[in-house]
Amino acid sequence: MLPESESRDRPTLNPLGGLPDPLDVLIVGAGLSGIDAACRLTLHCPRKSWALVEARDRIGGTWDLFRYPGIRSDSDMHTLGFPFRPWQADASIADGPAIRDYIEDTASEFGLMPRIRLGWRVTRADWCSRDQLWTVGLATAEGGRKVRCRFLYLCSGYYRYDQGHTPVFPGAEDFRGRIVHPQHWPEDLEVKGRRVVVIGSGATAVTLVPALADRGAMVTMLQRSPTYIVSRPRHDDLGARLRRRLPGWLAAALVRWKYIGWSLLTYQLARRRPETVKRRIIEAARAALGDGIDVSRHFTPTYAPWDQRVCLVPDGDLFTALKTGAAEIATGRIARFTPIGIRLESGEEIDADVIITATGLEMRLLGGMEMRVDGALVNPGDRLLYQGMMLGDVPNHALAMGYVNASWTLKCDLTARAVCRLLNRMERHGHTVCVPRQAAAGDGREPLLGFASGYVLRARPHMPGQGSRPPWRVRQNYLADLAAFHLSSPRDAALAFLRPGQSLKDITP
Ligand SMILES: Cc1cc2nc3c(=O)[nH]c(=O)nc-3n(C[C@H](O)[C@H](O)[C@H](O)COP(=O)(O)OP(=O)(O)OC[C@H]3O[C@@H](n4cnc5c(N)ncnc54)[C@H](O)[C@@H]3O)c2cc1C
Repeated sequence: MLPESESRDRPTLNPLGGLPDPLDVLIVGAGLSGIDAACRLTLHCPRKSWALVEARDRIGGTWDLFRYPGIRSDSDMHTLGFPFRPWQADASIADGPAIRDYIEDTASEFGLMPRIRLGWRVTRADWCSRDQLWTVGLATAEGGRKVRCRFLYLCSGYYRYDQGHTPVFPGAEDFRGRIVHPQHWPEDLEVKGRRVVVIGSGATAVTLVPALADRGAMVTMLQRSPTYIVSRPRHDDLGARLRRRLPGWLAAALVRWKYIGWSLLTYQLARRRPETVKRRIIEAARAALGDGIDVSRHFTPTYAPWDQRVCLVPDGDLFTALKTGAAEIATGRIARFTPIGIRLESGEEIDADVIITATGLEMRLLGGMEMRVDGALVNPGDRLLYQGMMLGDVPNHALAMGYVNASWTLKCDLTARAVCRLLNRMERHGHTVCVPRQAAAGDGREPLLGFASGYVLRARPHMPGQGSRPPWRVRQNYLADLAAFHLSSPRDAALAFLRPGQSLKDITP
C-alpha cells in the first residue's frame, strides 16, 4: 500500500514547497512518458501525492532537446499522442515544436504544473528497506536536494541527453569545416549555398536531408549501408473526414485504431513474409525515385524489414529531394575525413563545408542516476524486466519503456495504467512494498530489444534482459499487451508484496 493520501496530516520538509514528505510517487522526466504518467495518476489515483522532477528547464523531453531542421515524428501522432487527449490536427506526422507544445498543453490542461519542478536532475536514488522509502538526491541550480518517496517512477527516456553517439573518424581534426551532431544543433549554423554531408541512414538522416535541401544547402546523404525507407502521407484525410461527420471522441478513437491496426499488420507481415515485404518496399522506392538513382545500391538493405527500424518519410520528401537533384546519396565506408571533406574506402571523395554526424544515440537507462537497494548498486544489465516495466528485485519502482516497432506512447501509457492499478491494489490490501522476484523468472535470458541496430548492440551489456515467458517476456505487441492488461491480475507469483515492518529478506529467496 502507498496508503497515505494528501488529505492526511503529514510533515512537509519541504524541498518541493507545499507537497507532502514523503511523497507517494516521484516521477522523473517530463517527456511524453512522464506527462502521460502524471495524467494517469491524476485520473486514476487522485488521492496519491506525487511530484515530477525534470532535469531540463522545459517540458517535452526528446521534443525539446532536438532542434535540427525538419525535426518531426516518424510515427503517427494519433498513437504517439495521449489516448486521453487525442491529437486533433490533420497532420498525422508532426514537427518537433508542435509535439512539444502538445505535451506542454496537456500538462497545463491536467493542472500538472504546480507539481512539476524544472531544472531538477536526479543523481541518485537509494531504497531503504527499513523505512520502505526511496531517498532521491537531486542537483538543482540552488544546490543539492533530497526528496523522499514511496514509489519511484522513472520516465527518464532511454538515451544520454548530454551527448549523442559519434564514432571516431580518422582525420576529423584535419577537417577545415564544421562538424555538427544533430543532438546539439547550433542555432547559428547557416547552410544556404553550402555543401553539407549528412552521415547516417536512420530517422534523423532521412529527416535532415530534404529539410536542409529546402533551406538551400547542397546535401549529400552518406550511408555505410542502406535502410528500408517507406513513404507515408503526412496528412490523414480519413481523420479529417471522420471528424466532420462523427463526435470528436469517436473520430479520434477510430483513427487511432486504424493506425494501431496498420502498424501491427505491417510489422507482422514483415516478420512472416520478409521477402514479399522487402520486394514491395524496394519497388515503391524505385517507383518514387525513377531511373536516375541506383535503388539496388542505395535502398536495398541486406537484412530483413524490421531487423532494424524501418524509416518513414512523409509524402516521400526524401525521394523527391533525390529525384529532383536537390540532394545526392552515396553508399560506402568512410576511410577518413580530409581538410575539405570525406574520403571513402572506395577512393571516392565528397567535398563538404559542413559534416553532420547523424550517427545515432547513446542508450542509457535510469537517466544517468546511481540506483541502490539497501546500499547495493543496481546495474540494469544484471536484471530482467518484469512486465516490461520493473527491474527484477528492485522494490517500489517502475520505468517507462516504449515499443521499438510502434509508437512509444502506446506502451508507456499501458505501463502508466498498470502502475496506477498496482498502487491502488496495494492501498486496498494494506501493502506498502511490491518487488518482482527475479528468481521466479527461471533461467532463460534474452536481449530486451531484438533489433540489430548499432545503438542497440552497443548498449546491450548495460540494458536489462527479458525472460523466456510472461511476465518477464517483452511482447512488442500492443494488442497482446492490452489483452494481458485487461485479462490478468496485477497479483502474480513473481510479484511479492510486503506490509509495514516486513523486510525484503522475509521474501527474497
Ligand atoms: C529524434 C527522435 C525522433 C523520435 N521519433 C519518434 C517517433 O516518431 N515515434 C516514436 O514512437 N518514438 C520516437 N522517438 C523515440 C522518443 O524518444 C519517444 O517517442 C519519446 O519521445 C520518449 O519519451 P520519454 O518521455 O519516454 O523520454 P524522453 O523524451 O527522452 O524524456 C525523458 C525526460 O527525462 C528527463 N531526464 C532524464 N534523466 C533525468 C534525471 N536524471 N533527472 C531528471 N530528469 C531526467 C530528460 O531531461 C527528459 O526530459 C524519437 C526519438 C528521437 C531521438
